[in-house]
Order: sequence, then C-alpha cells, then structure tokens
Amino acid sequence: MSPTLVERLAEIVGVDNILMEPGDVAPYLADWRNAYRGRALAVVRPASTEAIAAVLRACIAASVGVVPQGGNTGMCGGATPSIEGNQIVLAMGRMNRVLNVDPLNNTITVEAGCILAAIQQSAEAAGRLFPLSLAAEGSCQIGGNLATNAGGINVLRYGNARDLVLGIEAVLPDGTIWNGLRALRKDNRGYDLKQLFIGSEGTLGIIAKAVLKLFPLPGETVTALIALDNPACAVQLLAQVRERCGDSISAYELMGHSCLELVSRHIPRARIPIEREYPWYLLVELGGVGDAPVRSALEATVAEAIDRGEVRDAVFAESVAQSEAFWRLRETIPEATIAEGAAFRSDISVSISSIATFVESATVAFVSRFPQSRIVCFGHVGDGNLHFNALLPPEYAQSDSIMRDMAGVLYDIVEEFDGSFSAEHGVGQAKRAELIRYKDGIEIDLMRRIKHVFDPLGIMNPGKLL
Ligand code: FAD
Repeated sequence: MSPTLVERLAEIVGVDNILMEPGDVAPYLADWRNAYRGRALAVVRPASTEAIAAVLRACIAASVGVVPQGGNTGMCGGATPSIEGNQIVLAMGRMNRVLNVDPLNNTITVEAGCILAAIQQSAEAAGRLFPLSLAAEGSCQIGGNLATNAGGINVLRYGNARDLVLGIEAVLPDGTIWNGLRALRKDNRGYDLKQLFIGSEGTLGIIAKAVLKLFPLPGETVTALIALDNPACAVQLLAQVRERCGDSISAYELMGHSCLELVSRHIPRARIPIEREYPWYLLVELGGVGDAPVRSALEATVAEAIDRGEVRDAVFAESVAQSEAFWRLRETIPEATIAEGAAFRSDISVSISSIATFVESATVAFVSRFPQSRIVCFGHVGDGNLHFNALLPPEYAQSDSIMRDMAGVLYDIVEEFDGSFSAEHGVGQAKRAELIRYKDGIEIDLMRRIKHVFDPLGIMNPGKLL
C-alpha cells in the first residue's frame, strides 16, 4: 500500500484503528461460512460519519476500492475483499451507539455499526419492539441488515428491513455526507433515495446512521411446534391461522424432518418435543396486541386442523424456556448443516400459494438428478421464502461443478414459478452470474446506470452485486 494512503488513513482513524497484521486482519478476510477468502491492504475502523467521509475521499484519490463490512455474517461473500489485496475493508463496528429512542414517535436512531440484538434490547428497555430478528442477530449490524435488506423471522408481520426504516445518513463514494436521517412516516418530496441504499450491498455508499421504526411490545405470546405431512398442509393452515388470528402471527417457519434430525445430531441439548417422526414441522409464533387471547385462538385453529387430518400433532410451549428451545431447533439448522459437511444452499422465494408444488417439483428434480444428495428444506413459509438445500457426501465437498449444476436445476424451476433465486441473502459475489441470467435486462441496465450516478469510478465494493 502506498505509504501516503496508509499515513492519511492513520491520520483519520488513528493508528490503532488501521489493522494490517495478519492475525488482526484474518477475521475480516473470510466470510461467515468460510466460502470466500480475500486479502486487503488494511482494515480501517472509523468511529464517525466524518471519518468515513475522509476515508472515502482518501481512497478515491488513490483509486482504492472500499469493501464495507458490518458483522460479517452475510451469506454471499458481499463483505469479503477480493483476492488481489488491493482494496481496504471498512469495518463499521466502532460506530455502535444508540443515539435516540423516541417512544412517542415510535422510532430509534442508531449508528450503522450497532449490533442488531443491542437495538432490540434498547427498544425493549423503552417498552417497544424492534422486530427485525434473525439467527445472526448477536453479531450482525444494522448497517449490514439494511445493506442486504435482511428478512428474518418476523417479516410476515412487520416486513423486511426495508419496511422498518424511516431515514438514513449515508456517505457517498466521493465523501459527500447525505443527511437523510428523518423520522417521518409521510414524505412525498420526490424519489425515496434511502430505499436505493437498502439492499444495495455496499455498492452505492456507506450507510452511517438510521432511523428505525418501533412497535408496541406484543402482549400474550404463544409458540407452537406443529407436525404435518406436507407443505400443502402448512400453507392451508397459514390461511386458517390468518383468518382466525389476523396480524398477530409473527413467525411461520417450515422445517423438513431432515433439518431436525441434523440439529438433534449436532447441536447439544437439542430435542424434538414430538415423539413420533413426521415428514414436516412448523414453528408458529403469535404475539397478541394488548389483551387479545392468541393462545386459545391458535389452539382452536390447530385442533380443527387435526380433526380434518391436515395437522398430525402439535406441542405448545408452556414457558419462555420451552419456547426458546423450540426456536433453537429452527435457528441452529444452518450451524448443524455446516457441522454435517458439504452442502448446496439456496435462498429462494415463490408465491405462498405455489410453495407446495414448488417443493414437489424441486424434490423430484433433485432426487432424479442428484441421487447422492439429501434434501434439507426449511424456511419462512409465510413469506414464500425457502432454503431448499442439499447435503453432499464428503467426496463432493470441493466440487464446484455439482454446486453449479444444483443451482442451475433449482433456479430454472424457481424461474418457472416466477420466483426469485435470492429472497433474503442478496447477490454479493456468489450470485452475480444468476443476476445476469435471471433478472430482466432492463432492470440490470437501470441498476448499472444508478450505480454509475453514485459511484462513477467504481470504488464501492467492486466485484459485488453488479
Ligand atoms: P455483512 O455480512 O458485514 O455485510 C453484508 C453486506 O452489506 C456486504 O455487501 C457489505 O459490504 C454491506 N454492508 C455492511 N455494512 C454496511 C454499511 N454500513 N453500509 C453499506 N454497506 C454495508 N439474513 C436474512 O435476511 N434472514 C435471515 O433469517 C438470516 N439468517 C441468518 C442466520 C445465520 C446463522 C447467519 C450467519 C446469517 C443469516 N442471514 C440472514 C444473513 C446475514 O445475517 C444478513 O445478511 C445480515 O443482514 C448481514 O449483516 P452483517 O452486519 O453481518 O453484514
């Protein structure tokens, strides 16, 4: 790295916040799954919006690419620098302050490096709910959540990250600070520019701060684990729960039996609370508003479905600890998959009404084309979002070609269903070819033009998304 750039960056963030030693930079150079590895000129850790702006100005002057990194839990290699070692990683962890909680406006203003769980806790301390919730919430940061438009377990009721933002402050690649940190629920003064940054995966600029929406804390909460024969029954039941319980339904997670088998094998103390084995399970959670009796409503709906033969068995959590144990089954599936070995992973979406036929078509295709694989399918059925994954024997661990074949087969089926090959995790460096193959050409062209307006020199997260 040119000494002048190092010196300049050290002046801006302080020498202690420029990491260059191999041991110090290593955690920033590989993604969570260890699927992508890169090298970097340095890891730079700014503590203010002004420092980010100065870092970007220095990098643009030196024509050095900038890779924004939050909690580094992304699934597409979006926060991993390239292997050439000619980019810097801009790590946001020092910008971790909650700036304001406004219970009357139902908003919280935070710096982008705030850990998601810390935001949830600050909201709760003020008697409010920040509903974005995902298994990585103990380490992912709100800046990363917004940059990937994260989904998670509460999308059904509260929407994606995109739906939870009122304003952002962003630093453009040339160092301009755009203060769009507004807490307004209505503002129709032209284009909604903040939304361009949500889901932009660090390619347009750095999200530095955000104003987020808060909600009332749920009243009575009920969590149930439900066994059924097939995804069609799960979709049927969803419609019935919605009719009966309205918006109180916050999570509706489908898991194939193979998922729970994996979790039981690899996760200490994980136990399936339903004794007999069934092909599919649902984790359903409802949170009442005020005094609304959600448990009795869900119990009645499930009992009727059992009578009709659409549900085989169900267990309702009797304590917070039991509810957490149910959730642990769902949330540790990714970890258990890693422990099992090589796996093809996907993150697709189709319309809720076509989930059952989609799973059927994809299963038939995988069983005939990849008989050596074991399907592990789970996901957020209430959002039409499934992880249709497949475990592979160890001899395929390094086989890129089988992964590509699986992706091709699956995504072609997704396309037939008018779905998306990337429902939640984004594109990063993992799915750029798919973006070109499956996304409409006009949309790609518009995205390229937008990128050029914000980042004509292409220094923001080069090689990602586009
Ligand atoms: P990083 O991984 O650090 O970065 C992700 C992208 O955002 C990169 O392109 C990076 O350059 C960019 N970026 C980061 N910070 C900024 C910033 N301040 N400004 C501009 N760009 C930035 N995702 C879901 O949507 N739903 C889930 O249910 C879900 N479950 C998960 C479960 C596990 C166990 C794990 C490990 C991951 C899961 N994910 C899920 C994926 C991941 O947690 C999310 O994508 C998360 O939003 C990433 O946040 P992060 O801070 O780790 O971002």
